[in-house]
Amino acid sequence: MAKVIDSKIPAGPVPEKWKEYKAHQRLVNPKNKLKLDVIVVGTGLAGASAAASLGEMGFNVINLCIQDSPRRAHSIAAQGGINAAKCYQNDGDSVYRLFYDTVKGGDYRAREANVYRLAEVSNNIIDQCVAQGVPFAREYGGMLANRSFGGAQVSRTFYAKGQTGQQLLLGAYSSLSCQVNAGKVKLYTRYEMEDVVIVDGRARGIIAKDLCTGKLVRFSANAVVIATGGYGNAYFLSTNAMGCNCTAAVQCYRKGAYFANPSYVQIHPTCIPVHGDKQSKLTLMSESLRNDGRIWVPKKIEDAKALQAGTKQGWEIPEEDRDYYLERRYPAFGNLVPRDVASRAAKERCDKGFGVNNTGLAVFLDFSESINRLGIDVIMQRYGNLFEMYEEITDVFPGDVANEINGVKYYKPMMIYPAIHYTMGGIWVDYELQTSIPGLFAIGECNFSDHGANRLGASALMQGLADGYFVLPYTIQNYLADQAVWPKVSTDLPEFAEAEKKVDAEQDRLLNIKGKRSVDSIHKELGHIMWEYVGMGRTAEGLKTGLKKMAELEKEFDNNLFVPGTKEGLNIELDKAIHLRDFFTMGQLVAFDALSRNESCGGHFREEYQTEEGEAKRDDENYFYVGCWEYKGKGVEPELIKEPLEYEAIKVQTRNYKN
Ligand SMILES: Cc1cc2nc3c(=O)[nH]c(=O)nc-3n(C[C@H](O)[C@H](O)[C@H](O)COP(=O)(O)OP(=O)(O)OC[C@H]3O[C@@H](n4cnc5c(N)ncnc54)[C@H](O)[C@@H]3O)c2cc1C
Repeated sequence: MAKVIDSKIPAGPVPEKWKEYKAHQRLVNPKNKLKLDVIVVGTGLAGASAAASLGEMGFNVINLCIQDSPRRAHSIAAQGGINAAKCYQNDGDSVYRLFYDTVKGGDYRAREANVYRLAEVSNNIIDQCVAQGVPFAREYGGMLANRSFGGAQVSRTFYAKGQTGQQLLLGAYSSLSCQVNAGKVKLYTRYEMEDVVIVDGRARGIIAKDLCTGKLVRFSANAVVIATGGYGNAYFLSTNAMGCNCTAAVQCYRKGAYFANPSYVQIHPTCIPVHGDKQSKLTLMSESLRNDGRIWVPKKIEDAKALQAGTKQGWEIPEEDRDYYLERRYPAFGNLVPRDVASRAAKERCDKGFGVNNTGLAVFLDFSESINRLGIDVIMQRYGNLFEMYEEITDVFPGDVANEINGVKYYKPMMIYPAIHYTMGGIWVDYELQTSIPGLFAIGECNFSDHGANRLGASALMQGLADGYFVLPYTIQNYLADQAVWPKVSTDLPEFAEAEKKVDAEQDRLLNIKGKRSVDSIHKELGHIMWEYVGMGRTAEGLKTGLKKMAELEKEFDNNLFVPGTKEGLNIELDKAIHLRDFFTMGQLVAFDALSRNESCGGHFREEYQTEEGEAKRDDENYFYVGCWEYKGKGVEPELIKEPLEYEAIKVQTRNYKN
């Protein structure tokens, strides 16, 4: 019988309770002159917004990131936009509708109360960012513009061309810089958190490494917040920035923080297909393109074969021979079905032999109809930089006319295929975003909180900024209220010395293996195992094989790794080796969770559990819970702990995007 936990605050939308948290603002009245220190690890949208807000509220903040500037956090990659329930389009949107769409999009596996709170604060985020000067796109009349993203039938996505994440981060960075200037935030760039330090059962500090000098540094504080992003790079090839890693989260997990729903990994349908074995990065084509782009493969298998052989081009196939399979299967949402649904549908077509490139692993994303309808100028205004990015990588410009059949112009279509993109799973947090270790909080992509089994487009930025600007700065005070009478602990405590010694010894271990294989070669192999056995379609047998192969490869890592250089000074290979060590733990965790969940939901698709039409088949009777995992040691199966889900406002039903 698995252990059971709860989220502290009973599930269900609890706006009344939420108001109580706001009362805690009194704690941070700057006149109180409280000397409370908070470490915020990460300067992505979640970390930068939290550090800036906590600094503004009067806390002393220590803020770290691995890049040379907070502005280079992975969040800048976000292209498409950020959701909010402003209803500027007057199309019937509301806080409730955003809440409902998000819960449904997550395949009814999110904690209902968290999602309600997220929808509630979504509008504040837009106001906050506009006040910071974020240049959101506007209508001709001056109103903020919106576009649509998957899983919604309203237009609620605010955007800044195809650079929304970058512009939002510049806004957060200005607020952060203001607090740095005011002396409330001390920023440490090129510092990596290597471990969390627990004193008397509470998180009281971290061990970080100065990545330029290799020196280990101790930081102590009244609370620690990690905002260190997701674990998509465990798959090696993903749309994530190369530096994304899960070391901080995995170290917290090893120290006792539960890891929730690790098997919920998002595979994004619109990425540029893999084009060779030398690739180390995949590029996303924003979901916003599905507003105007239509996804198709040929109807006839002989056309598909000709495309694969290179004897035919997409624009030579006339309209009547094209299968717009999303529009056919899901008439109500068409090309705007959620990502998990669109990804699986692409895989289904390609598995049946209808893929459109030489590997057979690609489908078309075609703008012919929208360019003919709206004109190239309008399309370029909306997606110009994405078209240019596509051309830079593939040498094909999707705005170029390629053919004319029966008076209809056909433009060169993009080719896309699903790829690892986002991780819904993460460190378990309660309603206040506190992990199972008191004093340790997790925000943004590195926690599990709001997206259930599948995240809807444009909702990661919303969640990261909700956590950073509007949730954590209040909820953390419930914890800090008690800390106000606690002195900050000294970094001379034996707990700090011991943690530092372990980090140091671990670096020595990796350097002294002196084997023959580079970090990247092993990482790539791990990625292949993950994609093949723990990827888009999973089976019990495949997962067991994947676990076995991962354990074997981990042995290879432990015995045959070669890390050049020393631990003094800059050593990128050593840093990557540490990250890879943690990707092994993470990969196995994903597989354990996927194996334990005998159902399909959202991004977790077990081939044994599907409907006749190939849709995910949930089992609410047995798996209506958050699956949390407790670390039990290297190579040992972790223990499953369940947080039952309770829905009060929304009726749990089968997802339907057909009508
Ligand atoms: C290509 C792409 C496009 C996307 N587009 C959208 C979109 O349009 N809309 C949307 O809502 N979402 C989008 N997303 C998802 C979204 O960008 C991310 O989920 C979100 O930005 C994550 O923010 P974060 O602050 O949680 O983490 P990150 O931005 O990943 O930041 C992590 C921070 O932690 C730091 N860090 C990590 N490890 C350590 C450590 N050990 N020690 C110290 N510091 C550490 C890093 O330096 C960094 O500052 C997109 C994602 C990708 C990959």
